[in-house]
Amino acid sequence: MRLFIGGARGSRPAIGAAFSEFGGDTTSLLVVGSRGERLVLDAGTGMYAVAGQLAAGGPGDVAVLLSHYHLDHVMGLTMNPLFYKSGWAFRLAGPMFADGGVREAVNRLLSPPYWPITCDRMSARMTFAEFPATEMALGSLRVRGLRIPHPGGCLAYRIDDTDNGGSLVYATDLEWASRTPAQETEFLTLCRDGGGADGLFIDAHFARADAKVFAGMGHTCWEDCVEIAESAGVRRLLLAHHAPDADDGVLRALEKKAKDRAANAELARAGQWLAITD
Ligand SMILES: [Zn+2]
Ligand SMILES: [Zn+2]
Repeated sequence: MRLFIGGARGSRPAIGAAFSEFGGDTTSLLVVGSRGERLVLDAGTGMYAVAGQLAAGGPGDVAVLLSHYHLDHVMGLTMNPLFYKSGWAFRLAGPMFADGGVREAVNRLLSPPYWPITCDRMSARMTFAEFPATEMALGSLRVRGLRIPHPGGCLAYRIDDTDNGGSLVYATDLEWASRTPAQETEFLTLCRDGGGADGLFIDAHFARADAKVFAGMGHTCWEDCVEIAESAGVRRLLLAHHAPDADDGVLRALEKKAKDRAANAELARAGQWLAITD
């Protein structure tokens, strides 16, 4: 499968020349399966760049998997020009929480007073589904979801391309420090499957030195991400959910530290296309 990173910023967009290398848009990724299946992971402001890549491939079916409904992961739903074009069919899926699931969250956001055009007035076909308790299939792609610790809840996803063997674990947002022993086992098992995922895109919002400041905010330090990847035998570690105040200089320095610790670590950069194969 191939992976396009539309945005990898956390919490809120960052704007300006100082954020041009890693990008300022919040999280949204596009996975293209070996049969051309198109799967969007989260709809942060990077959704606009993802929509540009989708448009280049022509109209058709797109699955959109939302990890949870915090604004930095859904605000790009207001920025997808393809919702207003016929010929497109968007199948949105996400977790069910006590106060509703994907249908409620998306329709609440895309309606007055927050947005003038409701889903039923958009030209694209829009359908909604709770992410199934275990897994779903999309052509050659097998997708599994796992509840991970984050305030209000969040789903990690693992995508396996059953045609070419590539596998990606997507885990944002994640507060690793607040995990239970069972959650640790479940998450590491998901990452370890098949001898270790080929890619792990993971919340590395802060550094271990800041752990006290970030306690309870729902995020993980990059040092924990390196240890998770090592423990699970992950081949390529993509550190993401970059802190909104961290400019290119700060992130380059962080990437150097991470690479000194683990050669397979790198920071996700918006605008990148990556091949995820085994
Ligand atoms: Zn977030
Ligand atoms: Zn969140």
